[in-house]
Amino acid sequence: MPDQPELTIQGWGPTGPDHTTDDGTADSPEAALDGALPKSARRYLSRELGWTPRATPPVAVADIRLAPSRLPETARGRLVELLGEENVRTDRESRLRRAGGKSYLDLLRRREGDASDAPDAVVLPGSTDETATLLAACSELDVVVVPFGGGTSVVGGLAGVDPDDRPSVALDLSRMSSVQALDVPSSLVTVGPGMRGPALEDALAREGLTFGHLPQSWEFATVGGYAATRSAGQNSTGVGRFDELVAGLTLATPSGVLEVGHPPASAAGPDLLGLALGSEGTLGVITELKLRVRPKPRTSSYEGWSFRSWAAGLAALQLLARHDLLPDIVRLSDADESRANLLMASGAGARTLRATLRARGHGEASLLILGWEGLPSMVRARRKAASSLLKGSGAIRLGHKVGESWKKHRFQAPYLRDTLLSAGLLVETLETAATWTALPTVYDAVRRALRDSLTREGRRPLIMSHVSHGYPTGASLYVTVLADRDDALPIQQWLTAKRAATDALLAAGGTLTHHHAVGADHRPWLEREVGPLGVEVLRAVKQRLDPQGICNPGVLLPE
Ligand SMILES: Cc1cc2nc3c(=O)[nH]c(=O)nc-3n(C[C@H](O)[C@H](O)[C@H](O)COP(=O)(O)OP(=O)(O)OC[C@H]3O[C@@H](n4cnc5c(N)ncnc54)[C@H](O)[C@@H]3O)c2cc1C
Repeated sequence: MPDQPELTIQGWGPTGPDHTTDDGTADSPEAALDGALPKSARRYLSRELGWTPRATPPVAVADIRLAPSRLPETARGRLVELLGEENVRTDRESRLRRAGGKSYLDLLRRREGDASDAPDAVVLPGSTDETATLLAACSELDVVVVPFGGGTSVVGGLAGVDPDDRPSVALDLSRMSSVQALDVPSSLVTVGPGMRGPALEDALAREGLTFGHLPQSWEFATVGGYAATRSAGQNSTGVGRFDELVAGLTLATPSGVLEVGHPPASAAGPDLLGLALGSEGTLGVITELKLRVRPKPRTSSYEGWSFRSWAAGLAALQLLARHDLLPDIVRLSDADESRANLLMASGAGARTLRATLRARGHGEASLLILGWEGLPSMVRARRKAASSLLKGSGAIRLGHKVGESWKKHRFQAPYLRDTLLSAGLLVETLETAATWTALPTVYDAVRRALRDSLTREGRRPLIMSHVSHGYPTGASLYVTVLADRDDALPIQQWLTAKRAATDALLAAGGTLTHHHAVGADHRPWLEREVGPLGVEVLRAVKQRLDPQGICNPGVLLPE
């Protein structure tokens, strides 16, 4: 297995701020927050939320409760025969590392010492053939298989729930994580599913190429996970969503191996590639992917703009979309998110920017980050045309520094989450997409639902939203929620809010998810989006490929 960082309960990697000591105690919340948040931002949060920072550290790793493995010895022996002793693990650390994902609920449970979602064993196949043989064996043995990529699911995709309560294994894809072929003339790279973004970009950079999929989880998530969840990255508006960048893939199932997708194009019936993308491990395991790559951009230009209001910003983006002028990166924050971002930025430059915006009547501004990448002549032309439309919409250009600063810090926010969780906060995100027509209604509905369900005894949530993926027909909406945590019933507090928000966004015309996928958390609502017949079609496909129902049974399809 690749190098493993020290095991912690932190939500995000080993390089993030870690205030947990060996015995699970923490620095004072004030000390931890001082390192992570400017004082102005901390004061703002306390005032907005009615929150008093307090120490709510996670339990020590040694105190996490893990039940003994339920994998029968005969089943373990069979898996060892197939993969070798070193690739079948039942030790505490291997199981804890594959317990659940990174949603707020996952982190809460782990912080409370609950690892009841941990697999009974971890298996590490090294090839498509080994994976297919393993799946057939697990089918016979009645052992549930949950594919595990980077473990960054935020929708309970790794919950491992099985209605029949069978033993389960996490199928770790880290042994299949290399570049297998590069076809430069066809702009195609063939890679193993366990490959992470940084390693893929390093390999491509040597050939002057890039893949360019940059979700905020880029450092840890894998390409197999992106395909299984239909991920979107920060520049998906320009380069396309992950599913648009997959030219073909191999899916190992308990019933055999499927090769789907035939680049450059085919009209041989419905495209079966679409069945594998977003299948979240329920049909089998993606063991190889052919991805579309492109030349590394010769230039890039990032900049900030400001609108007097969120509505004005949305109208301008819609205009850009209609004229096919959306840049590669688009991120429009509402007034609440813009204010928080401005407060998080410290230093004289940030103070000057705040004063300028106030002076120009943009005190409640909606900030927009735009990014263009590619050939210099194309970037110049696209930027010029878009800028003229934006100025005509009343936007103020804030310049490159604001854009470059966003780019520099764009992977940092997740590292802050642990510190906030350890100081008594609820921190979670949710997302959807809607047509340009429905977007304002969806925005209002989600905010209202979250506000109503999270307001209690003088405390209210801070709800910050942005649009980050534009299409000709509409855009995604991403919402970050902060609130004073209910220390007595923290899980119930979020479940209630999440249920209200999901009901509200669907009723207002939003999609169940834009890029986080369905997982265990959204499955009760899947039928609302695809209809009862749609669910039956998916069940029929699953029945054919996975007749024993061993492939990640706790996600996607409603119970
Ligand atoms: C801080 C943070 C930021 C994030 N930002 C973004 C973002 O910007 N954009 C975005 O789209 N998502 C984002 N996510 C969500 C998450 O990173 C994505 O869903 C990602 O695609 C999951 O990849 P993974 O390798 O970690 O998969 P995992 O979490 O390991 O698995 C996710 C699901 O896919 C299945 N699966 C994994 N690998 C395979 C495989 N090879 N074959 C079949 N099934 C498989 C799993 O069983 C599970 O159901 C974020 C998450 C976090 C914690």
